[in-house]
Amino acid sequence: MRSAALMGAMLLVPRPLLPPPDAPAPRGFTTESARAEREWEAKFQAIPDPDSLREDMRILSARPHHLGSPRDSANAAWLLGRFRSWGLDAGIETFQVLFPTPRERVVELVAPHRFSARLREPALPQDPTSSQQAEQLPTYNAYSPDGDVTAPLVFVNYGVPEDYVRLERLGVSVKGAIVIAKYGRSWRGIKPKVAAEHGAVGCLIYSDPEDDGYHAGDTYPRGPYRPSEGVQRGSVLDMPLFAGDPLTPGVGATADAKRLDRSEAPTLPKIPVMPLSYADAQPLLAAIGGRAAPGGWAGGLPITYHVGPGPARVHLKLRFDWRLVPAYDVIARIPGAVRPDEWVVRGNHHDAWVNGAEDPISSAIAVLEEARAYGALLKQGWRPRRTIVLALWDGEEPMLLGSTEWAETHGEELERKAVAYLNTDGNGRGRLGTDGSPVLARLISEVARDVKDPETGMSVWKRTHLGEVADARGADRRREAREHSDLTVDPMGSGSDYTAFYHHFGIPSLNLGFGGEDDGGIYHSIYDSFHWYTTFSDTSFTYGRALAQTVGLATMRLAGADLLPYEFSRLSDRVGTNLKEVQDLLTAVRDSIEEQNRQVEESTFVAMNDPRRPLVPPAREPVPPFVNFAPLQNGATRLKSATSRFESAYAAAMKDGGTALDTGRVAQVNAALFEAERRLAPAEGLPRRPWYRQLLSAPGWYTGYSAKTMPGIREAIEAKRWDEAEEQAAVLGRALEAEAALLDRASEILERGGSSGAE
Ligand SMILES: [Zn+2]
Repeated sequence: MRSAALMGAMLLVPRPLLPPPDAPAPRGFTTESARAEREWEAKFQAIPDPDSLREDMRILSARPHHLGSPRDSANAAWLLGRFRSWGLDAGIETFQVLFPTPRERVVELVAPHRFSARLREPALPQDPTSSQQAEQLPTYNAYSPDGDVTAPLVFVNYGVPEDYVRLERLGVSVKGAIVIAKYGRSWRGIKPKVAAEHGAVGCLIYSDPEDDGYHAGDTYPRGPYRPSEGVQRGSVLDMPLFAGDPLTPGVGATADAKRLDRSEAPTLPKIPVMPLSYADAQPLLAAIGGRAAPGGWAGGLPITYHVGPGPARVHLKLRFDWRLVPAYDVIARIPGAVRPDEWVVRGNHHDAWVNGAEDPISSAIAVLEEARAYGALLKQGWRPRRTIVLALWDGEEPMLLGSTEWAETHGEELERKAVAYLNTDGNGRGRLGTDGSPVLARLISEVARDVKDPETGMSVWKRTHLGEVADARGADRRREAREHSDLTVDPMGSGSDYTAFYHHFGIPSLNLGFGGEDDGGIYHSIYDSFHWYTTFSDTSFTYGRALAQTVGLATMRLAGADLLPYEFSRLSDRVGTNLKEVQDLLTAVRDSIEEQNRQVEESTFVAMNDPRRPLVPPAREPVPPFVNFAPLQNGATRLKSATSRFESAYAAAMKDGGTALDTGRVAQVNAALFEAERRLAPAEGLPRRPWYRQLLSAPGWYTGYSAKTMPGIREAIEAKRWDEAEEQAAVLGRALEAEAALLDRASEILERGGSSGAE
């Protein structure tokens, strides 16, 4: 069966989707440079090859290769050799980062009866790499403190702030307790943070079968979902405060860097944390008594979920080896022929929690194919205008270590040179998913029109665009989705290597990957393996090829365009949408507080109370004042008009194919465009977390992975800090005015026409 399928795949001739010769020039290209660009792109598209992708994955995922392991450094050396074999100038940059690994792990139920959690993922005969136990990192949450606590157990649903509001109404406190939370709905580091804020002394996090186990589908090895003893490893640092090495905030973790003492490192969690499989979690949950879990809290286990506290008591004992380990970033550079001091950076991590075939190898191999293709083009005479930097980061899994420490080390250079950062971190099948800077929406949409979707034969753009229409809720949204020719670029939260580039340095960034048809439950477990990937995910590696084609073309266009290919209408639209959202949010908060106060006065909560299942009534709250959003409204309006002026100026300058654009004017326009996104990331950053400077999106303080748009304002409203919401509206308003001023400057130069001196 398998070999017949393989032969079928070999017979398919990869025929790239090439635009017609009279296709409009890609954004930023004059007609003349577009012609040369298209020829090189056609050659590029023909190179990425499913067989090499598969072979590279087999090699890179053959053994566990977490940060600090022998195989991690061996993989780095192998990757370096690959880059060099294609004639690229490459090297390894090493950082020294804090990375604890387990010495002792105990999770046991001590009352009402005894049960010891196994804390082990068994090998499966079908999956050859699952038996490499001596090299596998045990299951744990990296950066949990050492600890030895015995306490009653409380079930806290997903362990996000609203769950604690619910617990309060139930009259349940977690003070002095160990909490058990489901994975999901937030970055995992949020769970111990919120638990500790409420006085808990320990935190267990388990994978509920409802989310990625047998409720979702057949479990591994029969299907792709999480088997009963599969465990999600992962970091629990306070990522929304800052990313990177916890001991060197804001500076590169070089060997001689000044380091914080561990006791004063603010991103380290305060209470011990440990992940569990659902096989280990079930006896603990079943032993919890007290109130039955409120509606919506029960998961997929065949038990009645209770909240507690007790009679279940748990003993949690953890000890770690707190060491600095080397992180090896593998970096290749292709110098730009015209603008060597403008960089397009393209990255993916190479470390994994265990074998990591899907995360991160499925997209790291695309970087390799892109590099191989660039090597081949260079031999044929291709020279990018700008410098391309290819990076395979180490230590992403513990806390985006390799990328953040590299970016912080080269920060001064990045601020002057980086025009874009393109990231991937895992690849499956389906549609192209994109998050990042809206100014790159046009670029990626144009690229997606020129790449073929392997399953439908449509362009990647067409399939993804139709998908957006199908997903849109309501007639208005659907019409909007149909009318937009640019694909949606979602706001960036965090959880991958773009964070230092985008959130800290304000560099236009995209995070890309195919997905939607590749669900599973092997994330961060020993079952994320070559066997799993080649049985259930992109088994033909044709989406691996499409990813290399997509990101490769995007990189080439960013590196080759005359004018930086940023386009601002999606940005301006998003600002408008987000502005409306924060206004609506404020109104909703006002209304709900007024209503709640009224119900307290009317004794509604007394009337509704069931004495056998009593609820604690909420307290009266002060009604929020009105907040002045005028500076933000003015900034948004200003940006909107500057955007349409720039679009007209751009269209006029390109009308005759850009022949009137001399190099002097191009350089001046680019200088203004280069600064534009950076204006949205001013030096002062967000309140209480100045490392995060991007004002339009950030990982939520209490969500982590998922983005908060206009985070300064939105989180101030959520936390009921009304003065701060008003201040932040003014800060963002000023940033938008500055952005608009830069766009106006660029328009002015384009509108001037004629020559304006040599470059
Ligand atoms: Zn990853």
